[in-house]
Parts: sequence; C-alpha cells; structure tokens
Amino acid sequence: MAAALEAARNGAQAIVIERLDRVGGLARTLDFQGCRFDIGPHRFFTLNKEVQELFVEVCGIDVLRVSRLTRILYKQKYFNYPLTPINALFGMGLRLSAEILASYLLARARHLVAKPRLVSFEDWIVDRFGRRLFEIFFKTYTEKVWGISCREISADWAGQRIKGLSLMAAIANAVRPHRKVIKTLVDEFLYPRLGAGQLYEKMEALVAAGGGTVHKKAEVLRIERDGFRVTAIHYRDADGLERTLRGDFYLSSAALSDLVRQFDPPAPQAVLDAAHGLRYRNHVGVKLVIEGAAPFPDNWIYVHSPDVSMARISNYRNFSPDMTPAADIHALTVEYFCFAGDETWSSSDDALVARAVSELRRLGISLGALAGSFVVRSEKAYPVIEIGHETRIETVKSFLDRFENLLPIGRSGMFKYNNQDHAMATGLYAARTALGKGRFDPWLVNIDGVYLEGGRIE
Ligand SMILES: Cc1cc2nc3c(=O)[nH]c(=O)nc-3n(C[C@H](O)[C@H](O)[C@H](O)COP(=O)(O)OP(=O)(O)OC[C@H]3O[C@@H](n4cnc5c(N)ncnc54)[C@H](O)[C@@H]3O)c2cc1C
Repeated sequence: MAAALEAARNGAQAIVIERLDRVGGLARTLDFQGCRFDIGPHRFFTLNKEVQELFVEVCGIDVLRVSRLTRILYKQKYFNYPLTPINALFGMGLRLSAEILASYLLARARHLVAKPRLVSFEDWIVDRFGRRLFEIFFKTYTEKVWGISCREISADWAGQRIKGLSLMAAIANAVRPHRKVIKTLVDEFLYPRLGAGQLYEKMEALVAAGGGTVHKKAEVLRIERDGFRVTAIHYRDADGLERTLRGDFYLSSAALSDLVRQFDPPAPQAVLDAAHGLRYRNHVGVKLVIEGAAPFPDNWIYVHSPDVSMARISNYRNFSPDMTPAADIHALTVEYFCFAGDETWSSSDDALVARAVSELRRLGISLGALAGSFVVRSEKAYPVIEIGHETRIETVKSFLDRFENLLPIGRSGMFKYNNQDHAMATGLYAARTALGKGRFDPWLVNIDGVYLEGGRIE
C-alpha cells in the first residue's frame, strides 16, 4: 500500500492485486460483532523518520500514542516486560535469581576466555544472558513460535531482533529507563484508533483518490516473462474470471517462494529448489468477544508456560477504547503457531475456540461471558530464519536481481522477519525505483526499516 501510495502521489497509475477482501495483509483489521480485531497484536515503532511521518500523516486525527504494558507469564507468575528488578526478584525468588546471576557470570567468562562461535539462536542467547535465563525466558516461547529447536534457529535472527539487548542493558534500562533506545524495550508505541489495519484502509482511500486501483478478492496466478523482463501478470478477479494486466514495472509482496513458482517460463530448477526450501510458519488467531471485566490490563502477554500451547494473548480494548463498542466488551486474540497440515492447523474452529478458552482458564485468567468467537488462519505468516536459509535466499535473490522491471518487497516478499515499518520502507523505495526517481534497492533496507547504502543512512 505504501508503494501504491508513493506511485499515486507521483502521477503514476498504481494497480494493486490483493487476494483478500480487505487491504493490510498480516496487519489488517477485521470487524466482528461491533469489535475490531487485528491478526495479532501490532505496535508501530520505527527508527525511519520518513516512515514515521507517513504513518502520522495518513492516520491523521486517528493516531494514538499507547503506553505499553506487556508481561511474560511463566509458571503462573507474571514478569514485567521490559524487566523491572523488584518484580523479577519477587517473581523468581532469591534462589533462582542467584542461579541466573551465576549462570550469566559463567557465560560472560566463557565469552571472554573461549570466544565461542555463535551459530544458533541458543548459542547467541546463552552467550548474552546465561543458560538459566535462556531456559526460563527464551526457550519455551521461541520454540512455540518457530516449532523447531532453538539450536536450529539462526543466530542472525537473535542478532536482528534483540540487538542491543543484554542482561546488563536490560537491568540498566529497568533502573534508568529512556537512557538509550533499545527496540525490544520501547515502552510507548503508535497505534491507529481503529486498529493496525486502519492505516492501510486510509492509504487505500488515498490511492483511489490519486487515480490508483485496488482489486480485492483477486489472486495473481502467473507471471509472464521474456528473459528478465516481466511482460504481464495473469490473475483471477473477484468474479472468478482470469484476467491479464500489463504494466511498466511490477512489485511483489506475495511470499517469495510463491513468486518464484509463478514464472512462465519457469525459473531455473536450482532457483525453484532454493525457493521450495524456504519454510514459513503459519499463524492461527482465535478471536474471542468477552463480556464483563477486563481479563487482564496488558496490551498483550507472552505465554511462556510450557503446559499450554498458546504463545500470546492480547486485548485490543487495551490498545484503543474504540476497538470494542463498550467498556465491558473485550476483543481478545489467543495465538497459536504451527506448520501447514499439523494438528493445530487442521483443527476445526470449534475445537480451537474450546482449546483457547480452556487454556486461558488453566492459566488462571478470569474470563467473563463468551459472547462470540471466530478463527483466522494465516499461511506463511513468519519466515523461518533457520540455519542455512541465507544460501537459499542468495540463490533466489541473484535470479531476481537480473530482472529489469520487477522487485520483491515486504516481509514474506523478501523472506525477512520484519515489521510494518520495514515493509513500508521497502515499498516506498521500490516505488521510487519503478518511477525512475533513482535506483533504490529494497534489499538495502535493514531490520530497522532504515535504508543503508554503503553503510550510510540515507
Ligand atoms: C501475529 C503478528 C504480529 C505482528 N506484530 C507486529 C507488530 O507488533 N509490529 C509491526 O510493525 N509488525 C508486526 N507484524 C508484522 C507485520 O504484520 C508485517 O511486517 C506486515 O504486515 C508486512 O506487510 P507486507 O505488505 O510485506 O506483507 P503482508 O502483510 O503479508 O501482505 C501481503 C499481501 O499479499 C497478498 N497476497 C499474497 N499472495 C497473493 C497473490 N498470489 N495474489 C494476490 N495477493 C496476494 C496477501 O493476501 C497479503 O494481503 C506482525 C505480524 C504477525 C503475523
């Protein structure tokens, strides 16, 4: 949507083909019984000034500044996230706190003396935080989300996501907050009054006003190419009719592996194999409308407890009061992560709702009356940043780099575990390349959504 808006604002005719019935992708917002539900909790935070300004400009009077309250639930105890020393000490008790400190000191000593090679996520976290804290705060949650052992997840992912954070940095942040911006610890975020997707709904209106078109319930099926030039895309429209679209430049935010499979003539076998090897994790959001007192005050809670399979719970009423029609109505998402075809993915909606409610009760979360429910399944929601994925990406990327009028953008589109700000930045820069305003390479947008050319921030 950011790309389409940039094109529309520069006098080009942008046409968006979107498979779903609304825009926003994984950051869309759904309506149900007068409530608004995001796919999962979405906070907006960016270090990219331009993207921040775009967010504020497009949201206009609907932009809210939300004080973040998030906690970790582990073995029936709540831990503030970010960490606060008194709460952590009380929650863990003196003995466990001493164990954590000892294992941290051991890890730091190993770091200095043995200089271990950090290949996996587990290596990286143990090196930074010590094994005991890894076991309590990182292992169960991470394995619920990714479905693979922390030994198979690449250290790159930890480096990207929790960069700048160490036990000492977390403690320093708790004692003297706001000293330095550490992304995972930021305690305030921006949020559109009517949900994360409101930003994209507003962009859609601006695209239309600028002469662009958004075809919804329309699916790209095939991408025709002549060598390294895309000549047309073929898509099925909302009425089921197959249509052809010819443009000057094409941007794709569909999953990278889907894009590679859609070429006609097909991409070389090695590229297809590399794309096939990229794994994505699916997301299942069980949506509950609850009447009565708020079940918890947090925006969301990370559920580390190993005895339930849910990973996170959120209440959108705690993001914005306009997400539900009344103060005693709450819009909750209970999140599960799975691979296509496994038990969670293929469970019926009724079974998933029953599982979510029973797990919430088991965790001691008091629920009022269940007034309604539905389930949203999102395929390819999380690219699995496992060891070895880099070589596959390199193979796919070197094929795509040769195209003169095609750029992949966005999260699944570039197989990056990134946030909205990154997706928006890649869209903006790719649109500028398409418009001939420069040769911006979306692959140079880093995890912070910042464009880096030769190490320089543009
Ligand atoms: C549970 C969860 C929580 C998150 N929390 C946060 C957060 O707190 N903060 C944050 O900033 N980000 C968060 N994100 C990430 C954020 O949602 C994504 O970074 C962002 O939505 C990526 O946008 P995108 O346009 O690149 O891709 P997507 O949102 O994946 O959009 C791609 C679009 O392409 C469409 N599409 C795919 N294939 C086709 C096809 N063949 N034809 C037509 N259309 C097609 C899809 O329907 C989809 O609408 C979260 C994501 C999830 C899943």
